[in-house]
Amino acid sequence: MLYIVATPIGNLKDITLRAIEVLKSVDMIACEDTRHTKILLDHYGIKIPTTSFFQHNRFTKGEYLLGLLKAGKNVALVSDAGTPGILDPGYNLINLAFENSMEVTAIPGAVAFVDALVLSGKPAHEFFFAGFLPNRSGARQNRLKKIAELKCTVIFYESCHRILATLEDILEVLGDREIAVARELTKKFEEIKRGKVSRIVQEFKSKRPRGEFVVLL
Ligand code: SAM
Repeated sequence: MLYIVATPIGNLKDITLRAIEVLKSVDMIACEDTRHTKILLDHYGIKIPTTSFFQHNRFTKGEYLLGLLKAGKNVALVSDAGTPGILDPGYNLINLAFENSMEVTAIPGAVAFVDALVLSGKPAHEFFFAGFLPNRSGARQNRLKKIAELKCTVIFYESCHRILATLEDILEVLGDREIAVARELTKKFEEIKRGKVSRIVQEFKSKRPRGEFVVLL
């Protein structure tokens, strides 16, 4: 069985009892970053062997993990944070397992954009998850113009390096609308900012933004 196991997005307590049970019972844990996952595994006294599975080794390592599954082993797939397959190479392994008629199941848990959506108070009955916007401003502005046509809550992920430039692009392309920016969800410095883009831009200009972000329009 391939188990897709959701892990915390910050607070180590945000993991299900079933996820811990599965992580303790499998033969191998495939991690986006073994050093990162070690913190979680040590916290819960999990001593199962780990191996890396990330963007640049996803094909070779995918074949190795498929070999384990074919030999009847149980493998758990985890990402650095949240649910594997949401913006990480997890889906490559999941597809490979299905294509080879392996059994796959998911142990649900934290997803940063779902936490941000409910916390933002934005309408959640219909929404569009846009992943990461392009790095370059020109491409990002073009993407924002397409997003402007949507009539529902739009959610995307952003890093601390680009958040300010992205908010400035939103202001330029979409105008001074009401947005929400969630930062460091479930962590010590969790914060949700709600308000006009111009105000949040000013706040981030006076205090350099740190951490991981989810933006909601
Ligand atoms: N698999 C993850 C999930 O289930 O949400 C997403 C992985 S994606 C590569 C990483 C991005 O998710 C970060 O750059 C950030 O935008 C967002 N993210 C992850 N953890 C977060 C947190 N605790 N607070 C805010 N955003 C977070």
